[in-house]
Amino acid sequence: MIEVYCDHCATTPLDPRVEQAMRPFWRKRFGNPSSVHRIGQRARAAVEQARRTVARALGADPEEIIFTSSATEANNLATHGCLAAERKRPIHLVTTCIEHACVVETCRQIERLETRCSVTVVGCPERGVVRVEDILSALRPETVLVALMHVNNETGMIQPVTEVARALRDRGVRLLCDAVQSLGRVALSVQELGCDFLTLSAHKIYGPQGVGALYVRNGTPLEPIILGGGQEGGLRAGTENVAGIVGFAAAAELAVREQTARRHHLEQCESAFLEALERARITWHLNGAESARAPGILNISFPGCSRDDLVIALDLEGIAVSAGSACGSGVPATSHVLEGMGLGGERVESAVRFSFGLGNTPEQARWVGERVAALVRRRTAASRD
Ligand code: PLP
Repeated sequence: MIEVYCDHCATTPLDPRVEQAMRPFWRKRFGNPSSVHRIGQRARAAVEQARRTVARALGADPEEIIFTSSATEANNLATHGCLAAERKRPIHLVTTCIEHACVVETCRQIERLETRCSVTVVGCPERGVVRVEDILSALRPETVLVALMHVNNETGMIQPVTEVARALRDRGVRLLCDAVQSLGRVALSVQELGCDFLTLSAHKIYGPQGVGALYVRNGTPLEPIILGGGQEGGLRAGTENVAGIVGFAAAAELAVREQTARRHHLEQCESAFLEALERARITWHLNGAESARAPGILNISFPGCSRDDLVIALDLEGIAVSAGSACGSGVPATSHVLEGMGLGGERVESAVRFSFGLGNTPEQARWVGERVAALVRRRTAASRD
């Protein structure tokens, strides 16, 4: 059976060039970067070279990059670590209803367990872009952190991070930006965004699973949440995943170098897919606005269909898509992002996410569109009979 993978927001296949870069570090160059001997120091040199590469990809300084096991850990570290570094109480956090679960759940836990900590969750209009004024009007004198993502992982909508950062700068409020879905899709620079923290994940950019990074602007107070041997400048203990970090750096470098070409390719796939839906004359609705969207991510509702049924039917045809973000339980939950955008009922129940990537071709994307249209037509005709 042909297999077409259209779920690149969940994870991406390892780029062979990245695999090549990682390979020596599993066997020949296996050292522990904290060891004083040469074998260890060669591993240390590789980690520090990778740190310089990831920093360059973001327009940051190397000492502003902390490697972690995932973006989930990086978001936890930024949130918990920023609050732990803040001595004053009460404190207040602002986040949005469209953030990834690793931010949503961290904020919920902080509100539940920390004394004199509260969280405001800002809503999102139907077009999928949070309003700057809604974030600013949620601020209080005791607000210490705002968490606002860059590219939303369910809709692809780009959030106004630069504008929010500019408004927060004079108020002494830190900004955490989850940019996991941005690198390689859109231009990304911590100087232009103006955030204090930014998180990345290697496996979303054709790098290995199990590696992430947190950018921390120089001078931003942060306490570690994982304690031990003092690795990563004392901010994230645990022996570094050397091969993973080397692979992450290789993937980040490629993502920046090839960003324009990738964007063009993703736009071509997207157009071919949407043309196939148009030509088939079925009913569909794009969730989120047409503008301010990162390329390659389409969240589409098909009235009269069930998203879970469509995802399974497409899987049986060899097409991998998802009904929203990939969650740990594997049981599809209702999308908090679409609900947060005020969509409900059938619009949410029939929403499927298509996320294209480097392995797709426009021809494949067109074929996927035709298969989707055929399945939708069959289901809506059956429900009319
Ligand atoms: N943030 C966003 C926007 C994501 O899409 C994801 C993964 O789906 C994460 C964070 C978590 O990344 P990781 O798998 O590295 O923990």
